Amino acid sequence: MLEEIVAGGASALGISLPQGAPALYRRYYERLTEANRRFNLTAIEGEDEAARLHFLDSAAALKFAGLAGKSVIDVGTGGGLPGLAMKIAEPAMELTLLDATEKKVAFLASLTEELGIPCRCVAGRAEELSRQPEHRERYDAAVARAVAELRVLSELCLPFVRVGGKFLALKAAASDGEIDAARSAIAALGGNISGIYEYTIPGAGILRRVVVVEKTAPTPEKYPRRWSAMVKRGA
Ligand code: SAH
Repeated sequence: MLEEIVAGGASALGISLPQGAPALYRRYYERLTEANRRFNLTAIEGEDEAARLHFLDSAAALKFAGLAGKSVIDVGTGGGLPGLAMKIAEPAMELTLLDATEKKVAFLASLTEELGIPCRCVAGRAEELSRQPEHRERYDAAVARAVAELRVLSELCLPFVRVGGKFLALKAAASDGEIDAARSAIAALGGNISGIYEYTIPGAGILRRVVVVEKTAPTPEKYPRRWSAMVKRGA
């Protein structure tokens, strides 16, 4: 049952969940499943899979960065992952959920209100929003999962992060190639990979990675570029 899987899995990961978190994950799962019938939010079906591959996978990233009291933006959050699942485990995070699809953002706004989780939900493209003074270099951390390869993802995420902050990319274990391909782009954006951490999702036996990028210098004005320029290979 979902509540037991998240509670047991979190303790296996060394994360202590606040009281009430398992019940919030249950309600989150139910609203996600219901919304999934109306529009596609996630390919994962069933509560065991959602508990492990969504909620525990997201919460695990907290082990590699202290985010309590920090402002965090989840870029390309879709159904709220990893950001909302992280905030349920660490409520002291000040969270912004960003997605390009308006109906997903409308779902997240109603979901977080219903769950009583304070959170800002923003619709728009990352490469446009991070040019606005309200968002540029305004966050202590950016997080992202399953949005783009690391080279492109770094250009979407690092402009949001203040110098001294960090960007966490949740990735598959088999990501050496995309990490190497991203190194020079990350340096040009003012970042530096400070750690690559591996963990196993409890009960699923799946090896995952969190790539931690420190923001060491301001992102030059010319970034982010337009999407078409960003995704061009070798750019
Ligand atoms: N992070 C979620 C969703 C991954 S699907 C998860 O792990 O389950 C990728 C999401 O990124 C989609 O919801 C899509 O709308 C969003 N997205 C893709 N490119 C984007 C961009 N440039 N700016 C903002 N959102 C983007």
